[in-house]
Amino acid sequence: MVEPLPHVRDIPPYVPGKPAVPQPGLTTFKLSSNENPYPPLPGVLATAQQAAEAMNRYPDMGCVALYDALATRLGVGTDELAAGTGSVALIYHLLSAYCGIGDEVVHAWRSFEAYPIAITAAGATGVKVPVTADGRHDLSAMAAAITDRTRAVLLCTPNNPTGPALGHAEVATFVAGVPDDVLVVVDEAYLEFVRMADPVDGLALLRGHPNVVLLRTFSKAYGLAGLRVGYAVATPEVAGALRAVALPFGVSSVAQAAAVASLAHEEDLMARVDALVEERDRLVAGITDAGWTVPEPQGNFVWFDLGERTADLAATFGDAGLAVRPFAGEGLRISVGEPEATDRLVALLRTTPPA
Ligand SMILES: *Cc1c(COP(=O)(O)O)cnc(C)c1O
Repeated sequence: MVEPLPHVRDIPPYVPGKPAVPQPGLTTFKLSSNENPYPPLPGVLATAQQAAEAMNRYPDMGCVALYDALATRLGVGTDELAAGTGSVALIYHLLSAYCGIGDEVVHAWRSFEAYPIAITAAGATGVKVPVTADGRHDLSAMAAAITDRTRAVLLCTPNNPTGPALGHAEVATFVAGVPDDVLVVVDEAYLEFVRMADPVDGLALLRGHPNVVLLRTFSKAYGLAGLRVGYAVATPEVAGALRAVALPFGVSSVAQAAAVASLAHEEDLMARVDALVEERDRLVAGITDAGWTVPEPQGNFVWFDLGERTADLAATFGDAGLAVRPFAGEGLRISVGEPEATDRLVALLRTTPPA
């Protein structure tokens, strides 16, 4: 019998956020995948539709228009960028370019569930450093977890699913202490939702440390989750390695066109992000008022540390038309969505004793 490599068996399954189960007489809301609840902007949609008319042709493998638009927007060189089918793909590309069997990758846990999947798929060994009780990265424990087998450290800020973001000063101190042959990957999937003093300035970190890699995506703030496009910002050497290992023609023409159009419509899109941040604040106020506490959310989601009550509460919310994302035995992640969803969630919390 033909057998896959032994580590393939060990790849944990990805549990996608489920759609809402229809409830008679109730509008349902999908709050299980940190998606943007707004439909596409008409201008972005029209550009994507136009790009779809050339679907008989391969996309531009060089992503020229996208790299040009991003380089202008970010003030970096086009050779400092590498695109992929979502920033999840960039994690795979990084690991395939830099990690082999037995190499170690340090990351926080609970954090993004794609990390252990991608690390195991690469044949590498994940070193999980528990987050603190308030859902924050324990940077000193992460620094202490680096060994001579470590090839990369993944920082997730804001941390999915717990919510808090890292500050610039603490990350700068951390990066300064990491050996320069270890990559420090800063996963900034929710960057645009951060509202804090001293937020991480990823580009400044990159300028000071060539082992830093920033991962960003059009899936969340820009609302293009279904099209699959994200990118890395890194030195030309690292970006070149990421491009070299990428699947040819990965990012579709429709995705490239929609991403470029999204940058052109950035002001409108960021106004929506502002509205979602306001909705997040309103949700947190409602949660607190109902007697519950959550770790400080800096993304478009909140985390309820529920332990054994997780499945029960997920069912309660689901029956009320709110699809949320349970992590069995640990807690629930709930995305910030429509105001009606916020109201319904807060009303349920008011009648449920806090954990
Ligand atoms: C959503 C998410 C991503 C990116 O997802 P893509 O859709 O693949 O771009 C990356 N990191 C984290 C932590 C996320 O939550």
